[in-house]
Amino acid sequence: MRYDLKEMLYGVKNTLVDAIFPPVCPVCGGLLGYDSGKRERICRECIQKVKCIKEPYCIKCGKQLDSETDEYCYDCKRKKHSYDRGVAVYLYTDAVKQSIYRFKYKNKREYASFYAHEAADRYGGLIAQWGIEVIIPVPMFSAKQRHRGYNQAELLACELGKRLNIPVNTEILIRSKKTTPMKELNDIERRKNVENAFNIQINVVEYKKILLVDDIYTTGATVDQCSKVLKQYGAEEVYFLCLSIGKGF
Ligand SMILES: [Zn+2]
Ligand SMILES: [Zn+2]
Repeated sequence: MRYDLKEMLYGVKNTLVDAIFPPVCPVCGGLLGYDSGKRERICRECIQKVKCIKEPYCIKCGKQLDSETDEYCYDCKRKKHSYDRGVAVYLYTDAVKQSIYRFKYKNKREYASFYAHEAADRYGGLIAQWGIEVIIPVPMFSAKQRHRGYNQAELLACELGKRLNIPVNTEILIRSKKTTPMKELNDIERRKNVENAFNIQINVVEYKKILLVDDIYTTGATVDQCSKVLKQYGAEEVYFLCLSIGKGF
């Protein structure tokens, strides 16, 4: 019998970490059990409450559609977006809303790994087809990020980058203007709010195909603005992946 010391130590480390910080469900915060010997990633009750986006979905923004015959959602039929295409992982239900709230405001940084796992499982193939060269998280205004201690979109982007083996860059795009939280604004105000809010910090964009990562997509004003700036500086195709997508206006 041959012991693989590294593997054994890794196992011990994981058990210790589990004992000190028992993994919790990223939706309700309850302790997780085991399912056929493997640690559950989400508890059994919450699995029912969290709804992933299913086909058919809008071929522009990724919003779930009611009708098989439609290609675009109500919003995308009327609005021109500066990004090329995007997808979202979850429907914006109460359970998902609560989970994202804790991820953003309650320091539940560890949820990023759960979300990225789900995102990679669902869209890893599509992202590979798009030929993405770099992942860029939607940036936060620097003072706000210092205050919160982290940017949730960046955590998600890093976990996703690790899973898909795509580099993540947090230097190129910055938020140069303090903006009002989008949830307090209507469609027109949202667009105005993010107008000129983003800037390119490094003058050379060496990447042609970029994936933006954010937590919630509502009207697309934020990703549109980021995409516009990236394209002004030479990006050719800009896609996005959002954790959750609202039903739109
Ligand atoms: Zn749960
Ligand atoms: Zn759409």
